[in-house]
Amino acid sequence: MDKREFLKTSGAIVAGSVISRFSAGQQQPAPRQNWSGNITYSADRVYTPASVDDVQDVVKRCDKLRALGSRHSFNTIADSKMNQVSLQHLDSIDINDKAKTVTVGAGIKYGQLAPVITARGYALHNLASLPHISVAGAIATATHGSGIHNGNLATAVSGLEIVTADGKTIHVTRDANEAQFPGAVVGLGALGVVTRVTLNLQPTYEMAQSVYRNLSFDHLKDHFDDIFGLGYSVSLFTDWQNHRATQVWVKRRLGPDVKNDWAPEIFGAKLATEKLHPIEGHAADACTEQQGIPGPWYERLPHFKMNFTPSSGRELQTEYFVPRNRGYEAILAVEKLRDRITPHLFVTELRTIAADNLWMSMAYQRDSLAIHFTWKPEWPEVRQILPLIEEQLAPFGPRPHWAKLFTVPPARLQAQYARLAEFKGLLQSYDPGGKFRNEFLNANLYAS
Ligand SMILES: Cc1cc2nc3c(=O)[nH]c(=O)nc-3n(C[C@H](O)[C@H](O)[C@H](O)COP(=O)(O)OP(=O)(O)OC[C@H]3O[C@@H](n4cnc5c(N)ncnc54)[C@H](O)[C@@H]3O)c2cc1C
Repeated sequence: MDKREFLKTSGAIVAGSVISRFSAGQQQPAPRQNWSGNITYSADRVYTPASVDDVQDVVKRCDKLRALGSRHSFNTIADSKMNQVSLQHLDSIDINDKAKTVTVGAGIKYGQLAPVITARGYALHNLASLPHISVAGAIATATHGSGIHNGNLATAVSGLEIVTADGKTIHVTRDANEAQFPGAVVGLGALGVVTRVTLNLQPTYEMAQSVYRNLSFDHLKDHFDDIFGLGYSVSLFTDWQNHRATQVWVKRRLGPDVKNDWAPEIFGAKLATEKLHPIEGHAADACTEQQGIPGPWYERLPHFKMNFTPSSGRELQTEYFVPRNRGYEAILAVEKLRDRITPHLFVTELRTIAADNLWMSMAYQRDSLAIHFTWKPEWPEVRQILPLIEEQLAPFGPRPHWAKLFTVPPARLQAQYARLAEFKGLLQSYDPGGKFRNEFLNANLYAS
């Protein structure tokens, strides 16, 4: 890892140390960007409270405010023209052995949390492709990993502590607030500032992953679920050329019934004999161990290691969720645009996500296939391609990832969320003056 990459990897920490020198209300000296550098935040103040009491003070003091996580979103969902609040100093970890839950400070990152709970014999059910993201930021946008039976990361939440617009702290739990809870978890940063999150734990487990090369899309026609069910978590990567997945990443949860042996060939795809990066030609040092080497769950579920730059670095991302049972058709529909897509693409990843009941989740009541694009940083070209992909996917009712780039018109987006009216009702009761509303929410949830 060269110096530039190291600085990029530790960008949140570097930015954090700058931010924390400024007390509440003081100006930031330099423009601040998201992780990828494609968004420059327009807020001129970032608060970095050290306690929930401080968060309450900040919320009372500001007319307009957005919470900021680890800055990994690719659009303006976390932006504010006025004030942002970073919870990076709220990183406590409290394990409740009786309830089998952990309550964390909202600024903690999965990569910080995972080793601590593992040392106490616990694990989470899933992780995203990278461990660098904050828990509160991830659940706010329904961030997900893969696995036919795995819900997104927000489905592990059993309770939230939120500072609402009036500066009061409320608790919303799955058991005590059955009616509101499914609306509050994937909150898009709009309900208030989440200060603590309670997550369900399960006993810790070991995993192993292997990569297969060159799987023809023809096999997906009749074996879609078999292929995505080859492991606990499965990802297919493609450049959209030659009607095939360039790589199939299979992550198995090891146990008495699951042996760590790997067939040399599955559906015509060959077991890789060397460690691979999903983007062909990129060095694989940043990737978690492959080739069936066993290791803890948190070092196999993500594709990328905590202390390295995940993915490519300078890049853009887009992702659409479609019904899993129409996944093959949707892939064929996008494939028609292959010669438009490939020149601007680093790689596409295909993953599955189990249906859930969280109102604003992209997998709300729909077992899903997520079709993801890691683009080169070529926004003028990518911006032209997105409407074409969205048109191809229109028959499948695509739901774009809340944290990534899309051009779906607001009315079409809103039509994808059956509980949107109730979600807006929840926002009205938590934040009647629109303190936490920003332009992203106005444009996507409120404009027609
Ligand atoms: C390299 C890379 C790989 C990625 N891989 C995946 C992946 O595998 N799966 C996937 O689904 N996504 C993935 N993403 C997207 C990422 O998971 C989302 O952008 C996620 O929301 C980032 O969390 P964050 O902590 O950076 O939050 P931010 O981007 O900082 O904020 C996201 C949202 O969370 C809100 N928020 C943050 N903290 C709080 C809080 N305390 N209270 C209330 N609201 C809050 C913000 O207001 C904003 O609306 C990836 C992104 C990158 C850069």
